[in-house]
Amino acid sequence: MGNNQMANHTTPLHTREGQGGGSVNPNFLKLSGAYLFSEIAQKVKAYKAEKSGANIISLGIGDVTRPLCAAVIEALHKATDEMAVAASFRGYGPERGYDFLREAIVTHDFHARGIDIDADEVFVSDGAKSDTGNFQELLSKDVRIAVTDPVYPVYVDSNVMAGREIVYLPCTAENGFAPELPKEHVDVIYLCYPNNPTGTTLTREQLKVWVDYALQNNVLIFYDAAYEAYIQSEDVPHSIYEIPGARQCAVEFYSYSKTAGFTGIRCGYTVVPKALGLLNSLWNRRQSTKFNGTSYLSQRAAEAIYTPEGKEQVKATIAYYMKNAQLMREVLTDMGFKVYGGVDAPYLWVKVPSLTPTPSPKGEGSSWEFFDWMLRSARVVCTPGVGFGSAGEGYVRLTAFGTHENTKEALRRINDKL
Ligand code: PLP
Repeated sequence: MGNNQMANHTTPLHTREGQGGGSVNPNFLKLSGAYLFSEIAQKVKAYKAEKSGANIISLGIGDVTRPLCAAVIEALHKATDEMAVAASFRGYGPERGYDFLREAIVTHDFHARGIDIDADEVFVSDGAKSDTGNFQELLSKDVRIAVTDPVYPVYVDSNVMAGREIVYLPCTAENGFAPELPKEHVDVIYLCYPNNPTGTTLTREQLKVWVDYALQNNVLIFYDAAYEAYIQSEDVPHSIYEIPGARQCAVEFYSYSKTAGFTGIRCGYTVVPKALGLLNSLWNRRQSTKFNGTSYLSQRAAEAIYTPEGKEQVKATIAYYMKNAQLMREVLTDMGFKVYGGVDAPYLWVKVPSLTPTPSPKGEGSSWEFFDWMLRSARVVCTPGVGFGSAGEGYVRLTAFGTHENTKEALRRINDKL
């Protein structure tokens, strides 16, 4: 094969001519262009520059705003002091995480709910983004992956990077944002409930349908429970392992980011039941090769949220955000918007109104058009639903992670401009 032909098949690692040295993974070139939140940030920056520092409220990005609770701060101080003394200093930790945290996890998140999970099935991580992104490395390249549409982009992008085909399961108002079972064979299904971005949930009965399907069809479920702490409804499961048989078909991902404001501290965990055969030992092998653990400080901080004070304080922060969610639901509904989610999740999924000739909640518009209208007229940032998948077109996602004051002010501005 001549050099010209080679050039058609490979993309140089270096852009400057004359620097050879291999080629990039072509799968990375299949990823969709800009990361959604970078595109939003650019638009907001451009608008601010145009309007010389306009006061904009963000109900867009999914980061938390409340500080860490007192129990966590105390644990961080204590752990820091331990690091200052040779006798209690900690270096590399155990590869699956410290026993004190894994024991607290199984006791409080599983045994307290009557779920049989062993500490050997828990792998502490630096958060659910890494683990939901990395777990696919254990799968062969030709497995078929199914995701919901709209979807948390990490599941899609990590599988595209690995060169896999993806089947999309639309979640629409018509199916109550609960996907239908796949019509073709798939090997793995990612489910996230409470859902980002729609803020909707599956009841125990609905999730049982998926577990039964997975068991009957030899399908693996990757269950992302990052928003579990926001569940208010009795009939919504906190863990997929509440469903009989789930230990035989599901891996579960958990994050302290939204539960306890750990987006900056970084800590989460993944449950890989031994009943899944090789996956438990392979994940251990993968993690011990490519990951050197979550810091001792982060793990002590996470442990603190399982103390009686920690539990109370974390609950209070979640109640704070859920008060915003309730207010947003009520006020937006009164304005005439069709609003989904926000009952068991910090996200609201809002049907975009028609913007012509004047903004009216009774109609249909595009996600990005409405984003622009919200930014330019109400000076409020939302997240275009289409950024989470084509079934998200015609929706925007709003988050309840703001302060009460900003949330109220944002709603007032939207109302004024309608
Ligand atoms: N999974 C979902 C569905 C999320 O929305 C997020 C964060 O927004 C994550 C995982 C990532 O969480 P972490 O901060 O633990 O990496």
